[in-house]
Amino acid sequence: MNTLLRIAIQKSGRLQEGSLSLLQESGLLFSNGKDQLKTQARNFPVEILFLRDDDIPQYVEDKVADIGIVGENVFTEKQKQNTIVKRLDFARCRLSMAIPRSETYTGLSWFNGKNIATSYPNIVTAFLKKNNLTAGLHEISGSVEIAPGIGLADAICDVVSTGSTLLSNGLKEVEVVMNSEAVIIGSANLEAAKQQILDKLLFRIEAVQKAKNNKYILMNCPNEAIEKITSIIPGMKSPTIIPLGKPGWSSLHSVVDENDFWEKIDQLKSFGAQGILVIPIEKMIL
Ligand code: ATP
Ligand code: ZN
Repeated sequence: MNTLLRIAIQKSGRLQEGSLSLLQESGLLFSNGKDQLKTQARNFPVEILFLRDDDIPQYVEDKVADIGIVGENVFTEKQKQNTIVKRLDFARCRLSMAIPRSETYTGLSWFNGKNIATSYPNIVTAFLKKNNLTAGLHEISGSVEIAPGIGLADAICDVVSTGSTLLSNGLKEVEVVMNSEAVIIGSANLEAAKQQILDKLLFRIEAVQKAKNNKYILMNCPNEAIEKITSIIPGMKSPTIIPLGKPGWSSLHSVVDENDFWEKIDQLKSFGAQGILVIPIEKMIL
């Protein structure tokens, strides 16, 4: 039988959509039925397992799955024999300490002697130790935010993205314990055939990530401006320059980084560029 790389992703929840899109944008074709527990890609040697995110680090350690996509928070909490293979830049959130809004927060020492409810006992224990704090831990697996309101704990440590859940439970965020994003985790020492498949997949993922961070840009510009424009948007090697029918003008094509996009546009206009078009890039291979 041909070797398959087994990838574990979350069956349903906040990581699911991003994980599926990542694999699909990398060109993998597979069916994704609602009750399906595993599926095989039709055009790439991978098998996809749909699991609870909390179980994924263990499956990877046990080599039931070769790699998995989880939040960095879960990777850190589980303390399994896994390594981060790639950061994925989605499902960004933070793990934070929150306390009732009515409390006056006096700094980290506030936590001394308090009880903290969390689904992340290892991370909280390490945080307390690092800050020389002594507090009780109450491990619960869900709906952590209601713990202070029902008298189960004085504070919580949980995942936050906008803070609206905290607010609606009368809590306020007082300390960020860690920042998190989705990551690919793997076990060390994959067999060579699987490593080869993984390298191929990572190459595709990188092409997708680079494309997301860049835009294809084309514009008309007076020939005198070409040099200045090239200095601010050099593109992948150098811009493509095509003469226009109108003498003294060219069409210039290049690639621009999403992050300083608006600043570059302003500069281009000041150099005399006109008719600027900006187009998304689907894949980008340097
Ligand atoms: P499961 O049923 O698989 O155990 P879950 O309830 O533990 O799911 P989710 O709420 O789906 O998990 O969150 C999965 C991961 O997504 C979290 O571990 C975290 O990394 C990330 N995450 C959680 N909440 C948010 C959020 N509000 N915004 C962005 N990412 C988030
Ligand atoms: Zn979970």
